[in-house]
Amino acid sequence: MKIVRIETFVCHARMRNWVFVKVITDQPGLFGWGEATLEWHTRSIVGAIEDLSHLIVGEDPTRVEHLWQMMYRQHFWHGNGVIRSTAIAGIDLALWDILGKIHAVPCHKLWGGPVRDYIRLYCHLGGGRLENFYETPVDNAKQFADLAGQAVADGFTAFKSMAVPPTMPIEGLRALSVAEACVLSMREAVGDGIDIMVDCHARPSPAMGMQFAKVLDKFGLYFFEEPCWPENIASLAAINAAVATPIATGERLTHLAAFRDLFAVRGCEICQLDITHCGGFTESRRIAALADAHRIALAPHNPQGPVSTAASLEFGFSQPSYIICESVHNDVPWRQDIVEEGFTIDPKTRTVLPNSRPGLGITINEAEISKHPFEQEIPQRVFYRDGAVGDW
Ligand SMILES: [Mg+2]
Repeated sequence: MKIVRIETFVCHARMRNWVFVKVITDQPGLFGWGEATLEWHTRSIVGAIEDLSHLIVGEDPTRVEHLWQMMYRQHFWHGNGVIRSTAIAGIDLALWDILGKIHAVPCHKLWGGPVRDYIRLYCHLGGGRLENFYETPVDNAKQFADLAGQAVADGFTAFKSMAVPPTMPIEGLRALSVAEACVLSMREAVGDGIDIMVDCHARPSPAMGMQFAKVLDKFGLYFFEEPCWPENIASLAAINAAVATPIATGERLTHLAAFRDLFAVRGCEICQLDITHCGGFTESRRIAALADAHRIALAPHNPQGPVSTAASLEFGFSQPSYIICESVHNDVPWRQDIVEEGFTIDPKTRTVLPNSRPGLGITINEAEISKHPFEQEIPQRVFYRDGAVGDW
């Protein structure tokens, strides 16, 4: 059996262009789907996949680890920059999809079978509609409370908010007060039985991240995400040690050694690896094993398209330390036209029952994708009050 071709399909979905990867074999009808979506880098990803295809076309698709090693190591530059690691992930996911199809089992059964009965989902405020999640002003606590109530009405028992404003490296009390009022308002709206998460999007400096973490600690957040840049692992460790709230990070790390360094300093309690950015299932399984050794939980980053979601769920059914999966359901109204999924979501509880179809269990509708051709993603840029550049 041989890989004969790798194709990419770009599907414009407002904030992102979903990049779907199709690995086609010489066996009639046997192919696999992956996803390599990387917002604002769509052309680079499509080109990187084309570069990689020269290494593995003609090879046996069932030698997944061997092909991963080729893709990671055989172009001199190790595949750990985000473009290359995302491109590798797209192909790697498709190879596992093929392997599942060959053996007629879902991917999670290739790795020892399901370790849980269901997976819990959490949403963004607004369900993935970018205006609600990213553009609700932090001084509008009531709107946060209203959106929180809507998430609960939609069946979710956990949701994530961006309740921390962009701040200059040092700011005074006001930014802290508005964040505090915002989280208090959401907590009062939903009560203690719902889990609230706050994502800082790595906007704060270590000093501001520490202050936000301390002021919000009393609300019992489920986790507090990216309180400073991912590069500042000593500061992540200091914040994680200073508060009771578990710190979450990892969506911008792309390879095993980066997670090794993060875990070694106890930079988080929750590892938010993104399966589509850190080399696919092959590398994610190594990262998960390393997290297990540190008793660090897994909650994958998954705001992309439907193949990423199917992959994040297959992974979750195979990983004991997996606690919850990020989900978006309201980013574009035609999301479900693109994919037929093997798993089922209970809309009352937003929990997922496992897929029983082979591989990732998905069917992708190529004709529907063609209705949404590439468009440049909308920029999301932050400038501080004085005009200096900030982080989104
Ligand atoms: Mg995040």
